[in-house]
Amino acid sequence: MSTIIYPSPIFGPVHSRRLGISLGINLLPADGKVCSFNCIYCECGFNEDHRPTLPMPTREEVAEKLEQKLRQMVADGQLPDVLTFAGNGEPTCHPHFAEIIDDTIRLRNQYCPKAKVSVLSNATMIHRQTVHDALMRVDNNIQKLDTIDPIYINKVDRPVGNYDVEKIIEGMKAFRGHVIIQTMFMRGMIKRSMIRSAEGRLLPEGRKNDQWSMESVDNTGEEYVAPWLEVVKAIKPQQVMIYTIDRETPAHDLLKATHEQLDAIRDRVIAAGISCTASY
Ligand code: SF4
Repeated sequence: MSTIIYPSPIFGPVHSRRLGISLGINLLPADGKVCSFNCIYCECGFNEDHRPTLPMPTREEVAEKLEQKLRQMVADGQLPDVLTFAGNGEPTCHPHFAEIIDDTIRLRNQYCPKAKVSVLSNATMIHRQTVHDALMRVDNNIQKLDTIDPIYINKVDRPVGNYDVEKIIEGMKAFRGHVIIQTMFMRGMIKRSMIRSAEGRLLPEGRKNDQWSMESVDNTGEEYVAPWLEVVKAIKPQQVMIYTIDRETPAHDLLKATHEQLDAIRDRVIAAGISCTASY
């Protein structure tokens, strides 16, 4: 298994499929993962396999290291297209997320005014007013919505605490169009023992090493796409980004959605009058 734990608080720049030359800002500890989801496709691995021992970086540390890196990039003549909050988990879990956004916008304006500030988030904290307000100040407020089916969410995103998809949808609508929805489409199977019940408990394993212990995680079918698309229309995002598995995943029996499947979903979003990109 090959998963990535990113340096903290600054990493890269890396070339992102969706964002261009991206300088990463990681508000999570440098030696592990902190996330309110535990996705079976997470490139950082499963939460339980990467418990951190170090603290999250402080607000001051993030600003200092970001300024150092931007100065160096200016001196090298290599400016970022985007400053991206991502890394080892969920950035909005940081207790000073809002203040760090303000520091970042100030430094962006000073060193690379054309760069966008992007946040990749799983949307679990958008009900917090300070988080909502900070996300309204960034250029690309990218929020995950893999499905609206609670059973599928517990199978694939596996929230760590309480998760109410209706509340998340209301939180997305409250951005009044200042939101980009990001959705992972994939196929394949997972072991039944990886699935959480609606109450958050892991399901019993079932019989090992036979197909009864595996369940499909395919969300490319009409039963998932049609209700998801209706909710997307109701949220009225500025854009939708659909994508599929790109790197090795901690669960081993996942498969990419096909180009044809992604193109067909993308075309339906565009037909609904919403800009949409597909990454393969
Ligand atoms: S939300 Fe992102 S960081 Fe968190 S587990 Fe899922 S893929 Fe990993």
